[in-house]
Amino acid sequence: MLDRQPGCAFTMPDSPRVALVSLGCAKNLVDSEKMLGLLAEAGCAVTADEADADVIVINTCGFLEASRTEAHQVIREAIARKRDGTLRRVVVAGCLVQRDQGDILKCIDGVDALVGVNNRDDVVRAVLGNGARMPKSISLPVVTGNQAVDGAHRTTDVYLSDYHPFTQIDTARLRLTPRHYAYLRISEGCDQKCTFCTIPSIRGPMHGKPPRAVLEEARELVSDGAVEINLIGQDTTSYGLGEDKFDVGLAGLLRQLNAVDGLEWIRLMYVYPSVLTDEMLDAIADCERVCKYIDIPLQHIHDRVLKAMYRRIDRSGTERLLQRIRERIDGVAIRTTMIVGFPGETDQEFEDLVRFIREFRFDALGAFVYSQEANTPAGRMNNQIPDAVKQQRLHELMAAQQEVAFALSDERVGAELEVLVEKRAKPNEVVARHRGQAPMVDSVTYVHDCDASPGDFVTVSCVGRRGYDLIAQPTRVGQ
Ligand code: SF4
Repeated sequence: MLDRQPGCAFTMPDSPRVALVSLGCAKNLVDSEKMLGLLAEAGCAVTADEADADVIVINTCGFLEASRTEAHQVIREAIARKRDGTLRRVVVAGCLVQRDQGDILKCIDGVDALVGVNNRDDVVRAVLGNGARMPKSISLPVVTGNQAVDGAHRTTDVYLSDYHPFTQIDTARLRLTPRHYAYLRISEGCDQKCTFCTIPSIRGPMHGKPPRAVLEEARELVSDGAVEINLIGQDTTSYGLGEDKFDVGLAGLLRQLNAVDGLEWIRLMYVYPSVLTDEMLDAIADCERVCKYIDIPLQHIHDRVLKAMYRRIDRSGTERLLQRIRERIDGVAIRTTMIVGFPGETDQEFEDLVRFIREFRFDALGAFVYSQEANTPAGRMNNQIPDAVKQQRLHELMAAQQEVAFALSDERVGAELEVLVEKRAKPNEVVARHRGQAPMVDSVTYVHDCDASPGDFVTVSCVGRRGYDLIAQPTRVGQ
């Protein structure tokens, strides 16, 4: 039974049960985990069961139209539950809040608190609704800060600042990933100016996390059971190159992480091509624990499109770079992402892209339909591509990549691989990943006749594939 004050909003119990819905990318996931850690520290009871929660925190993604639509849907569902009386409070946090600067309140009624990305650590106040901090006023007809809305008994607390703090500290997280792997954010924000991207306006300029803080966090994650750490940031390659000016850049950081006891796999995500140096490639090649894996979003290959995207690299530069990666890192797996339907992309330019991915044979590739975003240079370009054409191109590109991926998997049959067990799939089968498979975004390896536990390393022999995934059998159980 919920406690109600007469004719007024619900009162909060001293230790509310809080559930969190994390939308969007791995960077948002780190924020979600930190928020959960702060809430647990403050005495809230964190629950994975939304139906059991007094308060729901929705950590949103605001990157693309599709992510905003998804966030609105989740928020509306939560508010419907509040109206049913099965939920007391709805807190909306993250990129969408930061991007829309509170505009969300104009189209969705009933949100109790907004928390922007720069105010993440205010989540406890937002959940408890104690309004201890007067937030920034926003010019909306319905709400200013912590005041009542439209004369009723609802209030919306707004924690929203445009000041981008130096990288926030991400220790003491309550992790949502399995114990054996974790994400470690080494930087926040981005100084690149890709014309399609809203991230710099949401997350601000790039700030690196000081090396000592990165190492401390890595050790904490290891002591919490992580054997694999995935390094993330909007642009990890520029680590230490911004205003921060650390005495080590990305290469030095990789070498220091390589010496952290208990850390077995270190994986580098979100590499920006034009900033990737030979020094960084050599660090990846030299460091035993650093996976021979590079996630390098290229977005396109045609010179005109790359220029219009302001990617600071052309086709020949990209090809030379990819060649260098393969030459300097033996057995490297390369993952990329591409955008189809960028404004003005002609059939010919698109066909060049398809031919390129067939020829280069990326180990993994994700593709996105270009999303026309307000307040971006590309969003203002007048040669937008019709949706149907964009969808057709996405289909064609992924069909080409599927052929590549299937052929590469077939070529692996007979290969011996070390895999990290993720979870049990069937009584005698586990889901695992080898070093060339990143969590959440890449294919997996199914290991038959295996009773190892999550977090175990197993040496396997590849015997076939199931769609994009590999099938393998153990040769021996590792550490
Ligand atoms: S590198 Fe480009 S696409 Fe990536 S976050 Fe920065 S501006 Fe956006």
